[in-house]
Amino acid sequence: MEGIKTIGILTSGGDAPGMNAAVRAVTRTAIYAGFKVKGIYRGYRGLITDEIVEFKTQNVSNIIQMGGTILKTARCKEFETPEGRQLAHDVIKREGIDAMVVIGGDGSLTGARVFANEFNFPIIGLPGTIDNDLYGTDRTIGYDTALNTIMQCVDKIRDTATSHERLFFIEVMGRDAGFLALNGAIASGAEAAIIPEISTEVDQLGELIKNGFRKSKNSSIVLVAESPVTGGAMAQAERVKKEYPQYDVRVTILGHLQRGGSPTAIDRILASRTGAAAIDALLEDQRNVMIGVVNDEIVYVPFSKAIKKEKPINRTLLETLRRLSI
Ligand code: ADP
Repeated sequence: MEGIKTIGILTSGGDAPGMNAAVRAVTRTAIYAGFKVKGIYRGYRGLITDEIVEFKTQNVSNIIQMGGTILKTARCKEFETPEGRQLAHDVIKREGIDAMVVIGGDGSLTGARVFANEFNFPIIGLPGTIDNDLYGTDRTIGYDTALNTIMQCVDKIRDTATSHERLFFIEVMGRDAGFLALNGAIASGAEAAIIPEISTEVDQLGELIKNGFRKSKNSSIVLVAESPVTGGAMAQAERVKKEYPQYDVRVTILGHLQRGGSPTAIDRILASRTGAAAIDALLEDQRNVMIGVVNDEIVYVPFSKAIKKEKPINRTLLETLRRLSI
């Protein structure tokens, strides 16, 4: 807290619904506490190219309900080099920014950690990713909205799957994490979820084939997490077509529509709470931590833990899904 007058804020990496609610919460709480706020556009790229604007409370009016991020987001290779980060640091000095709040996923918080250590610069992270793959927080900002989007899409696909008695493989995002696939499957009443955490241990599709898919119905829906480990929905479908040519198999890849849309109440509240807590953390002299929520309580998670540790999937959910799909 010592010496901090101006706080910079940026969103980075994959966008997630609720990032705007987080930008709003950080900005307003910071101004409320007497800080000056600077909005940094296009993530680390804007930090290097000095796309920085002072944010007043009106800059974040009417954005809590909007998906995406008004600060824009980007991926920036240059920031991964010491030279790029030096340029970013020069801009920070020039702009008089004393601390930063970074909203993003695993990669963005890795960048934050590297930068913070290199320049002894205070950064607080917020978990902004639909994938829910950050350790130390029950949920990430954007996850609940994406889950609801998946559920609504699967509901629609179910109508056609049932009418045509088809077997659908639906690919969802997750980047090597099965949270969206597994909970999406439970929420939409799908038959199974093929997730990377389990794919390395058992042949999930093999088991499904062995059990003959859903015996009581002629249509089936299986959610597949997008990952090199699972091979994605296409690979699963090809295999089934070969072994069971009588099945009418279809693939839907939900793709980027999973990232969009107005954030759910859960994501808005999570973003608002963690955004406000980021400023509390700076006031308490915290640095290089991600704000999480565990059992409804705010927690500070060191960057090293948030990004390095594998976030375990709740395996009892797999068993629940299995029992519900007889
Ligand atoms: P996400 O935050 O959604 O995981 P990315 O993995 O694309 O997104 O990371 C976003 C940005 O974070 C990268 O484009 C890069 O600028 C920065 N970044 C990621 N990893 C590192 C690293 N090891 N060192 C420095 N910066 C990094």
